Amino acid sequence: MKKAASLASSAKATPRTRTKFVFAFGDGRADGHRELRDLLGGKGANLAEMCNLGLPVPPGFTVSTEVCTRYSEGDGEFPRGLEAEVTRALKRVEESLGKTFGDPENPLLLSVRSGARISMPGMMDTVLNLGLNDVTVEGLARRSGNPRFAWDAYRRFVQMYGDVVLGARAEGEADRCPFAEELEKLKAKRGVTEDTDLEEADLRKLVKRFKRIVKQRAKVDFPEDPLEQLWGAVGAVFRSWNNERAIAYRQIHSIPDEWGTAVTVMAMVFGNMGETSGTGVAFTRDPATGAKQFYGEYLMNAQGEDVVAGIRTPEPIERLRRSSPSAWSELQRIQELLERHYHDMQDLEFTIEDGRLFMLQCRNGKRTGFAAVRIATEMVREGLISEEEALLRIDPESLNQLLQPVFDADELARAERDGRHIGTGLPAGPGAATGRIVFSAAAAEQWATKGEDVLLVRIETSPEDIKGMQAAKGILTARGGMTSHAALVARQMGRVCVAGASALEIDYGKRTLRVAGKTYREGHWFSLDGGTGRIYAEAIATAPSEVIGALFGTDKRSEKQRRGRVFQSFKKLMRWADSVRTMNVRANADQPDQCRTAVALGAQGIGLCRTEHMFFGPGKIEPVREMILADTPEEREAALKRLLPIQRRDFEGIFKAMEGRPVTIRTLDPPLHEFLPHEPEAIKAVAADLGVSPAKIRAKIEHLTELNPMLGHRGCRLGITFPEITRMQARAVFEAACNVAKKTGKKPRPEIMIPLVSTREELRLQAEIVREVAEEVFEKKGMRLIFQLGTMIELPRAALTAAEIAKEADFFSFGTNDLTQTTFGLSRDDAGKFIPRYAELGILEKDPFATIDREGVGRLIAIASSEGRHTRPDLKLGICGEHGGDPDSIEFCQGQGLAYVSCSPFRIPIARLAAAQAALRERDAGAVRSA
Ligand code: PEP
Ligand code: MG
Repeated sequence: MKKAASLASSAKATPRTRTKFVFAFGDGRADGHRELRDLLGGKGANLAEMCNLGLPVPPGFTVSTEVCTRYSEGDGEFPRGLEAEVTRALKRVEESLGKTFGDPENPLLLSVRSGARISMPGMMDTVLNLGLNDVTVEGLARRSGNPRFAWDAYRRFVQMYGDVVLGARAEGEADRCPFAEELEKLKAKRGVTEDTDLEEADLRKLVKRFKRIVKQRAKVDFPEDPLEQLWGAVGAVFRSWNNERAIAYRQIHSIPDEWGTAVTVMAMVFGNMGETSGTGVAFTRDPATGAKQFYGEYLMNAQGEDVVAGIRTPEPIERLRRSSPSAWSELQRIQELLERHYHDMQDLEFTIEDGRLFMLQCRNGKRTGFAAVRIATEMVREGLISEEEALLRIDPESLNQLLQPVFDADELARAERDGRHIGTGLPAGPGAATGRIVFSAAAAEQWATKGEDVLLVRIETSPEDIKGMQAAKGILTARGGMTSHAALVARQMGRVCVAGASALEIDYGKRTLRVAGKTYREGHWFSLDGGTGRIYAEAIATAPSEVIGALFGTDKRSEKQRRGRVFQSFKKLMRWADSVRTMNVRANADQPDQCRTAVALGAQGIGLCRTEHMFFGPGKIEPVREMILADTPEEREAALKRLLPIQRRDFEGIFKAMEGRPVTIRTLDPPLHEFLPHEPEAIKAVAADLGVSPAKIRAKIEHLTELNPMLGHRGCRLGITFPEITRMQARAVFEAACNVAKKTGKKPRPEIMIPLVSTREELRLQAEIVREVAEEVFEKKGMRLIFQLGTMIELPRAALTAAEIAKEADFFSFGTNDLTQTTFGLSRDDAGKFIPRYAELGILEKDPFATIDREGVGRLIAIASSEGRHTRPDLKLGICGEHGGDPDSIEFCQGQGLAYVSCSPFRIPIARLAAAQAALRERDAGAVRSA
């Protein structure tokens, strides 16, 4: 144990208190258990637990995550005391099996595996068959009576150890493995295609060649000393916590770097000892559909890597009943026991050595959103978990899968294989869309009218594109982030959207898109995966989800299929969520059809109706443009008069759809130039339409152009300078509300919301206008309706002076898109370019336009909430920025005591579940505090 001794004994003395580093398991008892997952990693904790349950687990020990932390901090030095603990634990394994590590006659072989607190599949390293050398391999050959098997194990070990521990594969050689090349060369020479066709003599040769590769590339001799091998492998697995793959995985899944991995060292059992041996993976339920059906695959005469690597095609697990009947019945008993024990679907790894079953791993199985919902609800019915546990168990985001059209999984895999994946952007609007690419909103509309499925491709979108976006199946932009116009409108409409795909070179003139060295013309078929942001240059078939089909009654399948399990489980889950959540969930919607969608998905009101979106549509934009181009107040009044009935009709549609639920309507917000045309042809057309010269329109555009429009003449500043606009909008709202009340008998509940307020006086002036108009309308209509008047809080000054502003407001709605923009001084339309880099560098943990920045923006919300309530205890608080549909932000809103969150219609189920989880967690935290 030369090197081991020097490695371990050279450890610096640390000032920390002495803790236990090594946790042994085997022979039906273990030092650890499942509650110690932070210390033992998921794998170590569950092996200990299985051992305690008396299940057949090969003996071994787990080196704790704390050692990983100390090893990293100590620049690759193991902490003092570790060596003695490992020696003791190893002895226990030897005694348990009657084998000795390094024994030339009856050698104990070990596996060395990583295991973090949360499973990070395939991200870190593993070494198998450790303990083999030129002497022990002969012992294994004699003992097993199977020399081919022994030499096969040895060549696998030299390759794995050379690769993982000694770094024989250079950086950048991810796709090129010198060992695999050597193996292929030998197979070719021997004229065989399968590894299993190689004979003992071939494998002996391979071992020699593999060692030569190690020597050439790693500049060291392959270590023959088993203890040196062991310490080398333990260190390598700890180091693999910081390999590129693992770091990237942690970033994507928000796993803290400090956690570290544990290392589990376990006696090897062999699935490749002949036809009575085998290995497999299985799930206690189907991880794709959630069906209660044992699911998995196995291979006889194989090691685990053969199943995973897909070298041989595994058999469906049911066949094990025939190939190894006793192992099958034992596995059945164990899988049922484990699911009952863990109260969750388990993912199992097992090996059969000469007919005897061993469990190598169990963990909560990863599953699709479909499976998550079905398993959780069925486990409640089976009495395994409570409704609350079911609610807490499901990732709200995973509900997306149940709502969005889906790509056929096989087709997608084929497209990837065929190299049709040509770029990636931000997954801004979930779902799957296929269509022909077009480069203008007008073209999208034209093609769609002809019955074509189109994808609208723009450098970035503006409100002018709205009809084209509506007409398109999906939207692809080269610029813009998660809250860019394209993204938020797409989500609201339920359109698939991939935004900010900066590699795309879009040429509007030529109507082409260039990416990865290829040019695609208008009309080329593309597919967008809004869940991953991946872009494909071909058509991939999609279908509406079962849930959407059932909710909207559009599913043409039979009643039996339509009322399938996914929909039933989804409905049940939503009912439970609604019964525990304390916040309401509203929708951001501005068209009657969006409102109906929102109600079908469970919206309890509209939290944001962006009235400017209602200005785009046939016959609507012209009077808006007239209003903008007016030179005198009289001209403007005349234009507004034409606009009034149009707005009123739209509001009537919305109020009808909402059937007495509250509807928050925001007065005009964007800078006016957004409503004017910009391209010469469009300017000419508008001029002809309005009977003015193109020069006049150009001059007006020039006049309205601002250097910083998002901080310019927009929001309530428009209503202050053109009070007649606010007056017209208020009139349209109240007249529509009275008309609908009379017609339907259901009283609408309008809530007028003034945007971008920064002072109390701004709100007071706008409120005065709205109240005056309301009185006039009620008088004229001979009826009164209850309404509320409030403001958006989207500027830091508004948040900081909330006590004053609340004097004029019945409610505050946090406009966190603008509040994030103005708090960070970060343009919401440009941030997408560098936010990902900020996340990589750890400057920002998450995109603040997607998840509320609790420290800054959140603090402003907290101040505004508490000071606003101080002035007005009954002040209603809500959120209508995109964060209203983000589970983490929803949890924050729960903590602030908000009355509702409002999000795009297709995120409503996600928000309902996230709000339920937030309420449950708050209640549980409260219970802990008061205990
Ligand atoms: C906001 O700023 O959060 C908001 C909801 O308004 P908009 O996105 O329309 O600016
Ligand atoms: Mg805003």
